[in-house]
This record gives sequence, structure tokens and C-alpha cells, in this order.
Amino acid sequence: MDLFITGGAGFIGSNFVRMAIFRGHNVLNFDALTYAGRRENLSDLESKSNYLFVEGNICDEHAVEKALENTFDGKGFNVVINFAAESHVDRSIHAAKIFSETNVLGTATLLEAARAANVPMFIQISTDEVYGSLSSTGKFERHSPLNPSSPYSSSKAGADLLALSFYHTWGYDVRITRCTNNYGSYQFPEKFIPTIITRALRGESIPVFGDGMQIRDWIYVNDHCEGIFNVIERGKPAHIYLFGGSNEKTNLDLSRTILEALAKRTNQPEENFMKLITHITDRPGHDRRYTIDWSSSKQELGWEPAISFETGIEQTVEWYLQNRKWWESII
Ligand code: NAD
Repeated sequence: MDLFITGGAGFIGSNFVRMAIFRGHNVLNFDALTYAGRRENLSDLESKSNYLFVEGNICDEHAVEKALENTFDGKGFNVVINFAAESHVDRSIHAAKIFSETNVLGTATLLEAARAANVPMFIQISTDEVYGSLSSTGKFERHSPLNPSSPYSSSKAGADLLALSFYHTWGYDVRITRCTNNYGSYQFPEKFIPTIITRALRGESIPVFGDGMQIRDWIYVNDHCEGIFNVIERGKPAHIYLFGGSNEKTNLDLSRTILEALAKRTNQPEENFMKLITHITDRPGHDRRYTIDWSSSKQELGWEPAISFETGIEQTVEWYLQNRKWWESII
């Protein structure tokens, strides 16, 4: 397949591009290289004939239209996969405008250009955060009401509705994925798991919001990417697909698990790392718990996560240990 991928220089996008190239697909990676995008994440692919990097902003219709004119085999792209987004909730609290621009207007620009260029399928990569917060029981299902809490999740919900409107208005084949929190290699150091690992390795305090009892579900990034391939191959227009890892953890437990793995791997006493945990003032509007019921994706796509939480965390800790130069240069 010929894939037009946006945001492929970021965390999930770069893992997806790598899998796609490894599987023999042609990939155009369109990315604005914001602070979160690193072209060097995929620099080893740039010599390959089935990979093309184009720097550009999804809000810039001319740049998007021009990039869509590229072909690998003269036949045009089979699918647009929109990973490009402003993705950090904490930043969205202080800078809502750029989140609306990229996540909402950028998605609208991309939808219009993809439809005009006759790309037959559009996949919008979204998040479980569009459903808002849960109490201690229950799970969100794909048709649970949208109730986003942060400027980030609100802009993602807006983008999802826009994407679906292209199906209802034009019959355009749009598919939505909503996934829980990802972890793995190449995640920008500002996100929670890389923050824990990189600060612990530098002997710095590890900030945990409030009481640390907020619950999130965690999924290894490759499992999410596999789910997206399944949506392309077996999904249906206008359907919403949920992906989760069934690893619900409080932020405090997650911090301790990672620090235990780090202590074991570096042969250091656990208490050297545990004492770094520092509770800080809670984030305004902090969602208490999210999790989803992804059984519909299992039934309809045959998808389920393959990497256990323990293995995924070990691999992630190892990656940050082996790639210190990557994250130190960013910090
Ligand atoms: P990221 O911040 O690591 O990467 C975002 C990428 O998009 C970067 O390469 C950046 O340069 C690019 N980008 C930003 N604005 C752009 C613009 N205007 N035009 C072109 N490119 C632009 O994000 P991520 O964590 O990899 O998330 C990717 C997608 O997955 C996002 O849409 C996010 O909402 C969604 N998602 C993320 C998670 C998670 O846990 N990280 C979970 C569910 C869904």
C-alpha cells in the first residue's frame, strides 16, 4: 500500500512508519517538525526508495495538496493516516489556540485535500480522552457520549466529529481509532513514562500530580500500531475502533513499577529511586480515571494486545538506557 502519514516524526507515528516500511509499504511522512517531531527518529530510512519525508504543516492546504501529488508507483495514495497533533495535555491548558489550529483546522484541511485528491480512505488517530473521566468502575465503549475535559481532548473530539461528517456528507471512507495511553521507544521526554525514566537516571525529582491515584490504561505502542493496520485491512467506513492494553495503573503504582525495573536493570537499591517521587499540585481539571472496553475491536478486527505490561516496560526502560544521547539532546 501507499500510505500518506502525517505526524510520522513523532512518537506513535515514527513507530508506525518503521513497521510500515518493514512490511514493504510505501510511506510519505508529512510532518511540520514541531518541538515534538524529530526527523532523526527515522533518519536510517531516508536512503530507502519506499520512504519519503516531506516537511509541512497540515494547516497549510497548498503544502498538503502538493505533497499528495507525490506518487511511488504512479497510482496515488491508498490511505491518509493522521497522527499529526499537538498532543500534550499540560501544554493545552496554557495554549489552547494552537491545539484548536492543528487538531481541528489541520484535520479539516487534510480531510478536504485527501478527498479532493481521491485518496480512498482516511484514518483519524484519536484518543480515549474524548470520553472524559470515569469513576472507579465501568469502562467507556465506542458509542459512549463525548465529554472531553481538556483543550487537548476537546480539540481531538472536534476533529473526530469533523472526520465523521465527511462520511455523512460525502460518503468519504473515514475511520476513527481511539486508544488509551501509549508507551514505548521515541516518546518525547515531557510525557509521563519518559519523565520518570529520564529524571530517575539523572537523579532528579519525579513529579507526581496530587495524590497520584489517577488511573490510566497503558498500551505498548506497537500494539496500537498493529491495531491501525487491522483497521486499514478489515475496518469499515465511519466505524470507531478502540484499542487498550487492559493495564489499568494509578500514576503512583506506575512510577513505582518503572523505578523497580530501573533499579533491577542498573543494579541499584530501589530506595535510591523511590525517594525521588515528589507529589506536586494537581493539574487543573485532571481526569480521575479512563479506561475502555476494546472487545468490539477483538470481535470485528481480531485484534488484541500482544505485549505484556512487564515486557513492554522492560523494553522501554532498556530503550531509554540505550538511547541516552537521543533524550539528553532534547532535554
Ligand atoms: P507526538 O506529539 O509525539 O507527535 C506529534 C507529531 O505531529 C510530531 O512529529 C509533530 O511534529 C507533528 N505535528 C504537530 N503539529 C503538526 C502540524 N500542524 N502539521 C504537521 N505535523 C504536525 O504525538 P504522539 O504521542 O505520537 O501522538 C500521535 C497521535 O496519536 C496524536 O493524534 C494523539 O492525539 C494520538 N494519541 C496519542 C496517545 C499517546 O498516548 N501518546 C494516545 C492516544 C492517541
